[in-house]
Amino acid sequence: MIRFLDNKLFRYISVFLFLNSAILPVKSSSALAAWAIKTNGVLELRTKSNTNLKAYFQNANQISGDRFWVDFPGELKNPRIIKGNGPIKEIRLGKPNKGKTRLVIEFKEDTYLKPLTWRMVGLDKNRWRIKLFNPKYTFKQIGEGLVDKKRGNIKANQNSIYKKKSEYKYLKLPEVKQNKFSIVIDPGHGGPDPGAIGIGGIRETDVVLEVSKIIKKLLSEKGVKVTLTRKYEVNLDLAPRVSIANNMDADIFVSIHANASRGKRKDISGLETFYYRGWRGRLLAKNIQKQILRVSPGSPDRGVKQGRFYVIKNTKMPAVLVEIGFLTGRLDARRLEQKTHRKRLAYAIAKGILQYLYKIG
Ligand SMILES: [Zn+2]
Repeated sequence: MIRFLDNKLFRYISVFLFLNSAILPVKSSSALAAWAIKTNGVLELRTKSNTNLKAYFQNANQISGDRFWVDFPGELKNPRIIKGNGPIKEIRLGKPNKGKTRLVIEFKEDTYLKPLTWRMVGLDKNRWRIKLFNPKYTFKQIGEGLVDKKRGNIKANQNSIYKKKSEYKYLKLPEVKQNKFSIVIDPGHGGPDPGAIGIGGIRETDVVLEVSKIIKKLLSEKGVKVTLTRKYEVNLDLAPRVSIANNMDADIFVSIHANASRGKRKDISGLETFYYRGWRGRLLAKNIQKQILRVSPGSPDRGVKQGRFYVIKNTKMPAVLVEIGFLTGRLDARRLEQKTHRKRLAYAIAKGILQYLYKIG
């Protein structure tokens, strides 16, 4: 019965999904080595290196209060409950299913939480932090083990893909054959046509141009030839965008846009990727959509769809149009304003493109 209720009421948001691919065998011991909720409301974790973590938040229901939990690979030996203090009711360590470990933090009623702003940050190959709350009163640290124990292998640390200063480097970019592919990135709108205007006057043309330029830089570093349909705020019709790609016989065409909802509804956010026809276009769209969702936690997946937009309909090669979020949506707009998020999106799109190019060889 509890399980049924749980499923019915399951309204969680994925706080952040890590992209590391290390998978531990089912029978291995828990990847969680130590954890602590510090006096400043930050949860710190130490795990085995290259652990694949998943973090979730669920609003209070009839059964329990607001809960944040992290799932780790490897089975926990001794399930236990630890009493909390301040805003924290209790911490439970359990095994939700065989071969897994779950760390649940349950908050007391009426604790003010802002889960949509939460972000899990990798400090190192084996250390993580996430700010959960701002303690109003003195909060006493709770935890088990040493979270900041240094790893022995310093060299491995240096090669780590996690770098403190550039979070977006979470997304390690795949390798493709050098100088084999040439692609066209099309930043939507430009010049007198600003595209969508969002909350606080944020303009689509500026956002998509910046994202496109970063994509070009990233892909160029991987030996992919990238042509931008525009590099400045210029007025460029749709037909020339298409002919640039068709004339150079590009391998793929990717148009970058940001959305606006009718009536500028602040409650509408989300990401979507369109293709016009063909399995290649669809594959490219799926790869990109998957990656951009990963860097936009909480923002709805509006899916991979067929669309009849001029630029993807008239280009000869596999072509997609990516909508990187709603400039009119509260959640998306706040992010799209930030340079770091634009970089993350650029990484995500570059990653999706490289994965596609790798697959089609
Ligand atoms: Zn647009």
